[in-house]
Amino acid sequence: RQLETKNRELEELLTKDPLTRAGNRTALENALIRVKNQHLRHNTPVTVLMLDLDHFKKINDTEGHTAGDKVLKRLADLLRARLRATDSLFRYGGEEFVVLLKGVSDARASELIDALRHDFAQVDFHAGGARFRCTFSAGVSSFPTHPSTESLRLSADQALYRAKHQGRNQVITSTEQDDDGFPTA
Ligand code: GH3
Ligand code: MG
Ligand code: MG
Repeated sequence: RQLETKNRELEELLTKDPLTRAGNRTALENALIRVKNQHLRHNTPVTVLMLDLDHFKKINDTEGHTAGDKVLKRLADLLRARLRATDSLFRYGGEEFVVLLKGVSDARASELIDALRHDFAQVDFHAGGARFRCTFSAGVSSFPTHPSTESLRLSADQALYRAKHQGRNQVITSTEQDDDGFPTA
């Protein structure tokens, strides 16, 4: 039993981000391959959400790094609270998260994340005496619109990029034209 606990701890160290307890990039790569196989076998729709906090550098600069960490944790907690057991959460980079939703169309996923976007934007954060708020932008993409794990990731990223350019604090769903299999400049 002790060995079992040790193994689980080791597994966590290798696959989870310690700050937010979201899966790390390695875990995401493995999960993408798993959901793709599930999709191929059972034709389950799979949606990928890519989220990035808006102007987060400025929040760190004005409110401090500890306050920034609180925002990251809070967003991860809120996402987990809204996800179903079969969905999974990953921290893709500094202030960027990926959510995999199984059995959900991109339209439904987009609604879900837009509601969460709205709620998150209302959260008051406190740092020292100051009060501040934070928003995120998101890109949505899905199997089978985008057939490979790579094009799925890229198209979600492109949709996120558009959300940023169109003014942030919004959710954009990718189209079939996104991602031709080649990384964009
Ligand atoms: P944009 O709206 O375009 O995404 O702007 P941004 O400022 O969010 O993007 P940028 O990539 O310029 O800055 C990301 C910031 O995220 C910079 C970095 O200090 C911060 N960051 C990354 N990881 C962490 C972390 O673990 N903790 C904290 N507090 N900040 C982090
Ligand atoms: Mg950002
Ligand atoms: Mg970023």
